[in-house]
Amino acid sequence: MDVTRRFHLLAIHPSFDPLMKKKANLRQRSATALTSSLWTATAARAPAFTSLSGDQQADVLVVGGGIAGMSTALSLAEKGIDVALVEAGQPGDGATGQSGGLVAPDYIRHSPESIRSVLGHKDAERLTGMIGRSGQHVFDLITRYGIDCGARQDGFYTPSHTPSLAEDQRRYANQWRVRGHKVSFVEGEEVRRLFGADRYCGALRFEEGGSLNPLGYVRGLARSAQLNGARVFTNSTVRALNREKDVWVCQTSSGTIRAPRVVLAANGGNAALHPAMRRTSLPLHVVQFATTPLDPAQRRAILPNGGGFTDKVPYLFTARIDNHGHLVSAFPMSFLLKGDEGYYREARSRLREHFETMRDPDIGHLWRGVAWVNTSFLPEVYDLGDDAIAIQACNGRGIATNTVLGAEVAAMLATGDSESLSVRMRKPKPIRFYSAAAMLPKLLMSMAYLSRINSKSA
Ligand SMILES: Cc1cc2nc3c(=O)[nH]c(=O)nc-3n(C[C@H](O)[C@H](O)[C@H](O)COP(=O)(O)OP(=O)(O)OC[C@H]3O[C@@H](n4cnc5c(N)ncnc54)[C@H](O)[C@@H]3O)c2cc1C
Repeated sequence: MDVTRRFHLLAIHPSFDPLMKKKANLRQRSATALTSSLWTATAARAPAFTSLSGDQQADVLVVGGGIAGMSTALSLAEKGIDVALVEAGQPGDGATGQSGGLVAPDYIRHSPESIRSVLGHKDAERLTGMIGRSGQHVFDLITRYGIDCGARQDGFYTPSHTPSLAEDQRRYANQWRVRGHKVSFVEGEEVRRLFGADRYCGALRFEEGGSLNPLGYVRGLARSAQLNGARVFTNSTVRALNREKDVWVCQTSSGTIRAPRVVLAANGGNAALHPAMRRTSLPLHVVQFATTPLDPAQRRAILPNGGGFTDKVPYLFTARIDNHGHLVSAFPMSFLLKGDEGYYREARSRLREHFETMRDPDIGHLWRGVAWVNTSFLPEVYDLGDDAIAIQACNGRGIATNTVLGAEVAAMLATGDSESLSVRMRKPKPIRFYSAAAMLPKLLMSMAYLSRINSKSA
């Protein structure tokens, strides 16, 4: 509130100074855009849903209307299974609608070979296959249902910021390729041309990746689920979920659903739905932002062939351009950067640092999000017993993988065969020293931020 009022006061006076006027206009727009994401402004309209009312029954209840829940509901409905989904707000109100929309069929921390020492040969190969195919799965689904979400299958890149990472990535490209995935390594000079940024010495290119409007995408999944017979209830927060005899009883403020089987896909909200899900993931706070549409010269220089990237620097940098020419990027929140004004300054500074052609970036939208991270950095599906399953697979990287996981969970519920899953189901384990651990992502990002500003001033 204070910030908005201050910006408002600034806007009253500026007529005497054109530079101040420009700055004031910029800030005022920034301030008003703070709470709305680019996606809210540009996504195709959401279908109309009603909230849950009365006593209802379903074969499967899905809680959470993000990508994981909607994909599960859609796939169950496609199989003719009677499914009801309840969402606290509207589809995409969680991490899905806050995200950057990159379709990234890559591991966060691993390569196809290194994951073998974590999961063992068989499970590792299955997960690698799933992640490698996940981008194509998303774009096929979009085509199949004609989802209007600005989808661009123009590649996802993981750039190398050091020669030693470039060396590793040359090997990773080969590891993906021998497993049949369309992944290559692009050398530094070509990356500089493809990105319009000169700080990388190479990049892994995932040909089947790309980007989309995540809110448009999840709304399209919701519409498709409904068309296939799923019942989708919005503005329906689950207040209690209890097992009574052989059924789960889910209560919202205005209704009840009874179902023998339940899938929890509420991301960070899973913790409040089932005691075993408490303390199983950590919050990573992110500031996501988008510029106003780039001018023609910037369009020619920055990502001229499309595609998007996320680098491996601890204080990570990411960029993509949407169909309207907005450049979309993000930075992790730390303890050292506070207040909306600071976020806008940081957003502009990061763009200037990475793109020579962005001398005076104009931020049109800036919003915050929370990515819930597993300590494994891997997608997890938990068996909670009593026919309850939880998908906990955000990790800041779930657009493609959570779409596939939803389809796989549905296949498992339809057949009873857990081999339908690319992830081995486990029992959830609470993270030890959770209160302290929950601060770790922000603490680590604070250190990464410090090291960045120190290296800038060195
Ligand atoms: C800022 C940010 C940027 C990201 N960028 C990318 C990216 O570029 N590419 C990528 O692949 N991934 C990205 N991610 C991660 C990606 O968005 C997530 O992995 C994915 O959207 C998670 O989907 P989900 O369905 O599991 O969870 P969510 O989208 O969080 O959905 C959970 C839903 O459950 C609902 N809910 C919670 N509690 C209840 C309750 N009690 N009753 C009813 N409903 C409830 C919530 O309202 C919410 O809609 C990003 C995440 C963030 C936060």
